[in-house]
Amino acid sequence: MKDNSNALKSLSFEEKKIFNLLQKNGRLSKNKISSRTDIKLTTLNYVMEPLEKSKMIVESCIGESTGGRRPILYDININDFYIIGIDISILYTQVVITNLKMEILYKELFNMDDSYTPCETVKKVVEIINRAYANLNLSHMKLLGIGVGSVGPLDIKNGIIKNPVDFFADKWTDVPIKKMLEEKLKHPVIVENGANAAVVAEYFYGVGRGIENIAFFNCGIGIRTGTISSGHLIRTINDEEEAFGHMTIDIDGEKCKCGNYGCLECYSTIKAIIKNISKKIKKGRHTIINKPVEEIDYKDVCLAAEMGDELSIDIITDAALILGSGLSNYIKLLSPKLVILTGPLIINSKLFYEVCVKSTLKNLNSTKGKSVIFNRCGYFSGDAISIGASAMVIERCLESGI
Ligand SMILES: [Zn+2]
Repeated sequence: MKDNSNALKSLSFEEKKIFNLLQKNGRLSKNKISSRTDIKLTTLNYVMEPLEKSKMIVESCIGESTGGRRPILYDININDFYIIGIDISILYTQVVITNLKMEILYKELFNMDDSYTPCETVKKVVEIINRAYANLNLSHMKLLGIGVGSVGPLDIKNGIIKNPVDFFADKWTDVPIKKMLEEKLKHPVIVENGANAAVVAEYFYGVGRGIENIAFFNCGIGIRTGTISSGHLIRTINDEEEAFGHMTIDIDGEKCKCGNYGCLECYSTIKAIIKNISKKIKKGRHTIINKPVEEIDYKDVCLAAEMGDELSIDIITDAALILGSGLSNYIKLLSPKLVILTGPLIINSKLFYEVCVKSTLKNLNSTKGKSVIFNRCGYFSGDAISIGASAMVIERCLESGI
């Protein structure tokens, strides 16, 4: 795959400004582009010419007349370029191919089990990309970049997954994922923390459009958090997207994997739900889940709760109530306007989402509560991280500083 990332990176400041505007708000006439970029109309023709020549932007269609001749509308070219977005999560890895408007052209996912070491994961990702390449006839299109949205902690600059603890397979320590993928794909790769990538996707292209303060929570094996405050990503040390999950909820609580006691993660994650239901069944509580205890997975509990299983309802409710306490603390601290709750637990359990929102609002005063909008699953749902990884490629090339 030829490296075309320079096509975007090497644009001038003003060219990037125009590309950025059209990528997020196209189609627009030259008059509109001029007024929204503060580039004079006379200069605009000259600035836009190389962008049109390289086919980064194209004449899209003819707009409505406002009196005189109907204007030509411009947009970015969605037919000749593509980006690869990769979401490496604990439970699954997903690969998407998107166009420059973040529309999915191809998507494939595989579940991570104990056979998926970093090497095997990279091998499988390359296999999927090759399949997409053949299916979509991508040889006619130019690859603009490859982005990875991964679980942390990470060394983003060097593209290293440091020491996440929950992968089912071995060898997920100090993984040079950027280098491994670049060697196989012969193309530069950027790495971003998955929750950050996802909140960027929702901010520019999803339910967060036009909202400057957004908090994104992915509830699954851990609790992954991405926050945009006044239009900027809040970055934590080591890009640990799970920092919020280690907020202390009960100082006399259970011991957490991080060494502290009573972290949110001990009560409101998939692992906590499985542990708690197993404990209760072993103590004799009845459940409609007809499986040996050690085979019960979180989807069984979510489904049983929807079907009215009392034990599952209790377990899900307890987990969601505690998450609500943590969320209200977070909202008091950072005042997001929009709170997106997503991830395997939210996608699979309406009850978990509803109890969580109710509990959060109960812990906020009414003024604060009224000013927050909650959203279940965002616009991109399970695709948010992989699309976000693709979106981050654009932001890095444009040096938008998000
Ligand atoms: Zn902890």
